[in-house]
Amino acid sequence: MNGEPDLYVGGQWRHASDGGTREIVNPADGSVAAVVDEATDADARDAVSAARAAFDDGAWPATPVAERAALLDQIADLLQRDREDLALLETRDTGKTLAESRIDIDDVTSVFRYYAKLVGVQADRVIDVGDPDVISRVVREPIGVCVLIAPWNYPLLQMSWKIAPALGAGCTMVAKPSEVTPLSTIAFVHLLEEAGVPAGVVNLVQGSGAALGAALTDNGAVDFISFTGGLATGRTIAKVAAEHVTKVAVELGGKNPHIVFADIGTADAWDAAVDQVLTGVFLHSGQVCSAGTRLIVEESIADEFVAALVERAEQIRMGDGMDPASETGPLVSEQHRAKVEAHVASAISEGAKLVTGGSRPSDPALAAGSFYLPTIFDQCDRSMAIVQEETFGPILTVERFTDEAEAIRLGNDTEYGLAAGVRTSDPARGERVVRALRHGTVWLNDFGYYTAAAEWGGYGKSGNGRELGPTGLAEYQELKHIWHNVAPKPAGWFKGV
Ligand code: NAP
Repeated sequence: MNGEPDLYVGGQWRHASDGGTREIVNPADGSVAAVVDEATDADARDAVSAARAAFDDGAWPATPVAERAALLDQIADLLQRDREDLALLETRDTGKTLAESRIDIDDVTSVFRYYAKLVGVQADRVIDVGDPDVISRVVREPIGVCVLIAPWNYPLLQMSWKIAPALGAGCTMVAKPSEVTPLSTIAFVHLLEEAGVPAGVVNLVQGSGAALGAALTDNGAVDFISFTGGLATGRTIAKVAAEHVTKVAVELGGKNPHIVFADIGTADAWDAAVDQVLTGVFLHSGQVCSAGTRLIVEESIADEFVAALVERAEQIRMGDGMDPASETGPLVSEQHRAKVEAHVASAISEGAKLVTGGSRPSDPALAAGSFYLPTIFDQCDRSMAIVQEETFGPILTVERFTDEAEAIRLGNDTEYGLAAGVRTSDPARGERVVRALRHGTVWLNDFGYYTAAAEWGGYGKSGNGRELGPTGLAEYQELKHIWHNVAPKPAGWFKGV
């Protein structure tokens, strides 16, 4: 960063082989936050080769589980030591508020702590095959060389959901953060080196996904690709990997419904519902895969509920994430803001009713950043692109329903299936609706929370595979059945002459 080498290959820091660099822009004011090395295709291939060599010839895959768990704990300690520095880098790079970045670093720490515990207690499965001379066991082994590709919205958090279980399982890996937000991952790999991760086990390349993609994914030396990002990229990677029969897990987008029934309950429950619908869609300016971007509200309360939301949305304080007064920051880049603006223009042309936002803020203090106002469209329906396509911006659409069956139908009317929320005071209804929704996470009278111990992932085109929880570790493991006969004897099938 800023002249220091940023690519980490085989335990060595190095510059890009062609000397290429990239300016990383702070989206709050358009300034250059850092200049980093931009890997070439050859650098990416070197990184995969280094991970391959560390897996095939290195000690890490066979390192005792207790040592691996201790390393994960040591990484968690260093994350807490460097919490503020990492949070500052994340805010400079993504624009999110410093308060949110600090929570991200705490969440990253929790993921390492969780997997440190889990790898220590994973037991082999012993099977009784009905022969006292046979010991039959299913054991877990590391899957091999992993390519870990992360998006820009939660750069270090999303990468940690991959690196922690991959390390815990005994894999070697190449990490590729988004070209837009590599800063926290570069700092984190320095921290991994300090913690004592052996050379070649974690390798880092950053640069354009389009340019490095083939080296990382169309590569027979790779055993597993874990990708988090958009649907189109996920599709491309899955197709390329299929040629090599490489295992792929893709965590993709979402168009997440938040269903509010009229039987919401007390005045407190009403306030909580308004607050959480607001937070669920406008936190981090909507750049959240599980953002509740579709409000599906019962007709009888819809006007009052939307009016309450508009009032709150117009009070959201936007600003530089470094300013403690800011409640939300800018969009990640000018290019991304242009995409969000195109979605808004399309919604207006399709007849959605703009009730607030729909433009850049007028405050001159925000003019240099890529800010966009919290935006709400009422009178939306399922035919509109704004209801079906992920905008990844601060945009809420409102659809109305009159009965439970219609609410469920609308909630499931998306090609995605990442997350959903349901608000009702009727427990039986809550259970019925939660079970009927085809989404990977469903919150009942809450929204947005997760834990490292519970699986995260999507139904439908939100992807396949799961991160976090025991399944998130199992993704990085192969299962081997060992059949051991302690008193060998002839099979007795072929009798001879
Ligand atoms: P993206 O454009 O798909 O990029 C994701 C990552 O893939 C980036 O590191 C990108 O590199 C890289 N990439 C791009 N083209 C590639 C290729 N051909 N081969 C290999 N890698 C390639 O997504 P994004 O815009 O960064 O992230 C937003 C998306 O992520 C949204 O759809 C969001 O819903 C999704 N997301 C999902 C989850 C989840 O848990 N399901 C969590 C967070 C985000 P460059 O940045 O250099 O292009």
